[in-house]
Amino acid sequence: MRLIIWVLALLLSAAPGFAQAPGKPGFGGGKPETEQPGVCNVQQRQLIEQAFRDALAMTRLSIQRLDREPNLPEFRRWFGTAPVQTVRGNLVLIANHMATQRPPALFCNPPNACPQGRFAFVMTGSGGMGFCPLFFNARNDGFDSRPGIVVHEISHVAARTRDIVYSPSRAATLAKDDPMSAAINADNYEYFVETTGAGALR
Ligand SMILES: [Zn+2]
Repeated sequence: MRLIIWVLALLLSAAPGFAQAPGKPGFGGGKPETEQPGVCNVQQRQLIEQAFRDALAMTRLSIQRLDREPNLPEFRRWFGTAPVQTVRGNLVLIANHMATQRPPALFCNPPNACPQGRFAFVMTGSGGMGFCPLFFNARNDGFDSRPGIVVHEISHVAARTRDIVYSPSRAATLAKDDPMSAAINADNYEYFVETTGAGALR
């Protein structure tokens, strides 16, 4: 019985919303989980869930700040002269998605799916998400943070954003040169939320 209670406690402490992979080693045997390629352990699931919660809080704050000040300097920095309502609509889609959904499947450091430079990925079709070593090594704030990486990936699913350019400098240049492209580029949403919503974590 103690074993069952321990397993239940472990399940309850695991990130809500994420289904545990069936047949995962460690469950049933009561032994500590062993690393298995591509399978997320409890600590990784908790880190991912926290990143989703932080990403939601930051995105909501970004929307609030934009509503208070449509001429926000950060908006011009990341979206140039793109229409505020277009970008705001996408931010709302991203926030609603994070508030109500979690990926149907999670993969952590899957071999062969984490080439150099990849933080995370989302599978078109299934909506499953993978998280790479760069995500787990990322900070919780600043550019390319864990919450920001979640905003980037969810923007693909919720707002059909694309990857036209990567990196803060290229995203800022895109905002100046081609605002309509910036308004559909995933990194521009990530950096806008990272620079505008950081106060939500303090
Ligand atoms: Zn992307």
